[in-house]
Amino acid sequence: MEVVPTKTHIALLASPGTGHLIPVLELGQRFAIHHGFLVTIFVVTTDASATQSQLPHYSSYKDLLDIVFLPPVDVSDLVTDSMAILSQLVLIMRHAMPILRTKVTALKPRPSALVADIFGTEAFEIADDLGMLKYMFNTTNAWFLALSLYYPHQDEANKHDHVYHHAPLNIPGCASLEYADTVDLYWQSDDRVLHDDYVKMGLDMAKADGILVNSWEYLEPKTLKALRDPNLLSRFSSVPVHPVGPLIRPVQPVGNSVSRSTALEWLDLQPAESVLYVSFGSGGTLSADQLTELAWGLELSQQRFVWVVRPPIESSAFGAYFRQEKRTEDGTPDYLPDGFATRTRKVGLVLEMWAPQTEILAHESIGGFLSHCGWNSTLESLINEVPMVCWPLYAEQGMNSAMLADHLGMAVRPKGVVPGGVVAREVIEKAIRRVMEKDEEPGKLVRAKVLDLKRSAEAALAKGGSSHGSLERVAKECETGLRERARGA
Ligand code: UDP
Repeated sequence: MEVVPTKTHIALLASPGTGHLIPVLELGQRFAIHHGFLVTIFVVTTDASATQSQLPHYSSYKDLLDIVFLPPVDVSDLVTDSMAILSQLVLIMRHAMPILRTKVTALKPRPSALVADIFGTEAFEIADDLGMLKYMFNTTNAWFLALSLYYPHQDEANKHDHVYHHAPLNIPGCASLEYADTVDLYWQSDDRVLHDDYVKMGLDMAKADGILVNSWEYLEPKTLKALRDPNLLSRFSSVPVHPVGPLIRPVQPVGNSVSRSTALEWLDLQPAESVLYVSFGSGGTLSADQLTELAWGLELSQQRFVWVVRPPIESSAFGAYFRQEKRTEDGTPDYLPDGFATRTRKVGLVLEMWAPQTEILAHESIGGFLSHCGWNSTLESLINEVPMVCWPLYAEQGMNSAMLADHLGMAVRPKGVVPGGVVAREVIEKAIRRVMEKDEEPGKLVRAKVLDLKRSAEAALAKGGSSHGSLERVAKECETGLRERARGA
């Protein structure tokens, strides 16, 4: 007798980092709310309690989703100081696979699909063994996805020119990538582990039944076309690409946490669009010299600001990525220039370690965002019509920055933001003024662009919009997969 279950169950897998977990939770929520699916989310983390504390509305997700934190994996004896962040993530995920297999196998009803983020594609083997559909969720943009899929097949001569002569890197059918904006693997081209990790990731993701990407048709038409063109990128991988974004964490009602209310209450007192928000994501850190220059740049710009600061770290731009600290009372830390607090008391607010970012960006007094250009931060800025100052630090953030400033025109870029470099206070001051002075160029222009993009994002997500349609198609596939298996049972 044919047994057709009424509810589709899917499993999602998030790799360490708030920037991966948030979009995965948001995607899961959409499957639950819009399609009535049962959704189990497996979270790989280096510190589950710190991760939860960074999601103040974590409990609201729990009402809709079954969230399973896998036991932290200890890879400390395998990680070296010089190991790229990507290789560290790959290693952690690899070590989480056995326990993930046990947990997925035990799920009832058996999920019809497994959706893994970019670092979780090794889990496709589990999906294959259990007869599940497998999807990759690319939590960043389509341009980076294009590079990832192309990387195992790239033109070696062009790669050589890119690495050694700093020529632009060609990605078939897409905007080429300037060396100054390139991803870490080309800077660290002698890192064989990193190279092999990227190749494996590119090949693994090409085996998916589909790739969901946190972008939308209007934002990246050329790249999405290239990904689907059999003469361009689809030559290397014909995996269907579904732009389902922008999926971002929505603004939450005001809570009781100290830094949350402090920041929002302070913002309530400021004029509309007058405050620059400064933050480098969940893990970004600066050197001591760069922190000093940034503090001076902010002060010299004479603009109001909210700055999320972390203690300086000299050797790494992602010093706080795996090491999440608890939030503390705000106050001026001693690693900022002498007298900074006193001189900026009337115009600035310094928050240590962590801030309620989506709530801050949604506040009407915010007029600009100086950001490391992580993709979640970028989308949160865009959806709140906030133009950006780009300050990429690691991973694909340089690409994002080029896209925002040069392709989309919603951001300005200070000159000289390069790994290991120090951007001078005068350069920072100028970049801040350029974005904050809203009646002058380019401040006026970046505002018009960001408004246009925000409207396109809303249209993509609305019923009948391109992203809404993409997600419906994927949901249908998951439902069909379920029925087919039930028939075979
Ligand atoms: N975030 C936050 N408060 C902070 C720093 C970050 O809420 O003080 C959130 C931010 O809103 C975003 C995520 O953490 O949703 C960071 O993701 P992103 O992709 O921007 O950067 P990553 O941390 O992955 O580099």
